[in-house]
Amino acid sequence: MRVGQVPFLETNVAQLSGLLREINEIEESGIYSNYGPVNTKFESALISTVFGGVGSCVTVCNATIGLMIALKYVTRHVDRSQKPYVLMPSFTFAAAAHAVIWAGFTPLFADIDPQSWTMSAESEAQILASQASKIAAIFPYAAFGNAIDLGRYIDFYESYGIPTVVDAASSLGSLNLAGHGFGTGFPFPIVFSLHATKALGVGEGGFIYSDDAGMIQQLRAMGNFGFERPRHATIDGINSKMPEISALLGLDGLKRLEAISRKKDELAQMYRDCLPDFTFQTVLGRRSAYQFMPVLLPERGASRRDQVLARMKDSQIGTATYFSPHLAEQKYFVPRAETTSLPVTDRIASGVVSLPLGHRMTSDTIQFVCDEFRRSCQQEFN
Ligand SMILES: *Cc1c(COP(=O)(O)O)cnc(C)c1O
Repeated sequence: MRVGQVPFLETNVAQLSGLLREINEIEESGIYSNYGPVNTKFESALISTVFGGVGSCVTVCNATIGLMIALKYVTRHVDRSQKPYVLMPSFTFAAAAHAVIWAGFTPLFADIDPQSWTMSAESEAQILASQASKIAAIFPYAAFGNAIDLGRYIDFYESYGIPTVVDAASSLGSLNLAGHGFGTGFPFPIVFSLHATKALGVGEGGFIYSDDAGMIQQLRAMGNFGFERPRHATIDGINSKMPEISALLGLDGLKRLEAISRKKDELAQMYRDCLPDFTFQTVLGRRSAYQFMPVLLPERGASRRDQVLARMKDSQIGTATYFSPHLAEQKYFVPRAETTSLPVTDRIASGVVSLPLGHRMTSDTIQFVCDEFRRSCQQEFN
């Protein structure tokens, strides 16, 4: 069966043209940024809708800047010559390592877990046992929206005094084991992206969540030139504010987030049912958030991945290979990062394929993608 072109990514950005009344209100107020009234409404709506009313958040102009600010904040008392490293996975997006370097640190790469593809507890424990005194922060990634166990990062803080920043860029819509929004109640900063390609998009944007209202207040000041008093810098500063128009898009898009997250979760289950002989990421929470569907080629097929994906392209199906090359394989990061041995990262990255998973897809489209994927694999290896 053919169902026509299947794009790799679908966007969920509110229609600006449907928000004329609200745009008029912004124009009449003359307030376009600086944590204005629409932004305030959006932040409250995020806390009540996503985090059950628990905690605080501040919007940012994109998640990468949000990660930089959060890393800079949790390490603000650190002597970089004593503690040069930030412990993080290599199996993530380049933005994460860039943020570490911009914050003045060296990424130290840990391996991932073979089931969940998130930073491995064993690898973390091993590195901390020998190098904790040189580590300024721990920086896990909730890989592909997977709701990682955050409890152990509180334990690490208690044992080693090392704070955490969580890269939850692709996690909006993800639920933890208790069924709460991923991150609910966590005392360290968690950074979400609102890029056009994420579950809730505003174009460029994001927000930092924490259960610690005082921390969010200081992060808000950092994002506004470090002004904790009027035009008086008292802390590291940058401009990371979200424009009112973006907050308006977020506020409207938020109304559809739960329905879209549910739909994507159902489609993800169809992929798993449709391709029972392939390996998928283990889901740690009650629900993952999906931007696309990551799947692993069997080891014997990994060397034929390019050819498999070329066949998918011939069938007009968009695919990608997040995160291959992984960070320790990228030229810019090689001389600027420290790495441990990464056998699981190497294996998963070399065989991973990202299949399309958009909320407008139907079960027929998923079936078509699975059929074409299986056929492409059979033609290239077996
Ligand atoms: C999307 C993404 C980012 C970057 O978010 P922006 O808002 O585009 O800056 C960072 N890390 C991961 C893992 C992502 O998926």
